[in-house]
Amino acid sequence: MQGKRAVVLGGAGFVGSHLCERLLEDGAGVVAVDNFLTGAEENLRTLRGRPGFAFVRQDIVEGLSVEGPVDYVFNMASPASPIDYAQLPLETLRVGSLGTENALKLAEARGAVFLQASTSEVYGDPLVHPQHEGYYGNVNPIGPRAVYDEAKRYAEAITSAYARVRGVKARIVRIFNTYGPRMRLKDGRVVPAFVGQALRGEDFTVFGDGTQTRSFCYVKDLVDGLVRLALSEVTEPVNIGNPREMTILQFAEAVRAAAGGGGRILYQPLPQNDPKQRQPDITRARTLLGWEPKVSLEEGLRETISYFRAIAGGSGAS
Ligand code: NAD
Ligand code: UDP
Repeated sequence: MQGKRAVVLGGAGFVGSHLCERLLEDGAGVVAVDNFLTGAEENLRTLRGRPGFAFVRQDIVEGLSVEGPVDYVFNMASPASPIDYAQLPLETLRVGSLGTENALKLAEARGAVFLQASTSEVYGDPLVHPQHEGYYGNVNPIGPRAVYDEAKRYAEAITSAYARVRGVKARIVRIFNTYGPRMRLKDGRVVPAFVGQALRGEDFTVFGDGTQTRSFCYVKDLVDGLVRLALSEVTEPVNIGNPREMTILQFAEAVRAAAGGGGRILYQPLPQNDPKQRQPDITRARTLLGWEPKVSLEEGLRETISYFRAIAGGSGAS
């Protein structure tokens, strides 16, 4: 990345801000673009003022104007937590569709590599397990998760069309559940939810019977996969995630062990269309990118918990 210039859309978000840091470390100039829909100024704190970093406040649905040469466009902009996209259904659909097309136009105009952040949600409530990239998915197009799932499926479709028809050098990453510092404590996703509850000594809010499974990837590993994919010639979608699968009840135990807290399990209703099982098949990432996750859940949780402890100022997360 030395001497290259990258644009990170959604750069003030959880993943986007870590990606900006990694690109700067690799010697790239970075322009982060964000409208703070679900991101935060605070996530830019370690980035502002660093040589080679610039921030542009812009809604990518309205258009994108970035001056100067661009070698890479990383499109990370989109609400990502089920609670966020339930509250922001139209914004989610628009950023996945109009926003992605604006991002593609920027990549086309500058001859840049374009990397689209897609998601394991394109597999819906999967009938194939573990999920490999050849599986087309099982998505309810009118359910509450559809605004996100279908926006991301459309984003993959338009990215593929720009690659075919306009010659854009497109890459598609299907990201599985990722966690780490800078998630919002109250974004509703299970990692900040359980960590916050453990730090406050509250019960864990388990949705359904807690037997649904997920596989959690630490953000540093994910970002390494994103950079490897951007630098590769791989044009097919690539799953990036940690294959260590566990039930949500087992995950609650892991958080309790790491945080040394948390009370009982408080069962709550399962949200509609909540996928029952999820585990990435990462054969493609392993063979084509030489990528696999390195950070254990225990280590990743330690980092994440100390972040949430620090932002709570030692007085218990709120
Ligand atoms: P996030 O909500 O922290 O970050 C998304 C960022 O995009 C925010 O800063 C938000 O303000 C910005 N944004 C949204 N709409 C925008 C718009 N119209 N214009 C400009 N900026 C806009 O979420 P995240 O977890 O960091 O996710 C980043 C990307 O990775 C998303 O595209 C998400 O779909 C994808 N992804 C994440 C996960 C995960 O587990 N974290 C899993 C699968 C896919
Ligand atoms: N979940 C839970 N309690 C919570 C938040 C989430 O049991 O407080 C469950 C949720 O129903 C899902 C899993 O944890 O089965 C992961 O949810 P998350 O919102 O983190 O991401 P998803 O994989 O569903 O997009």
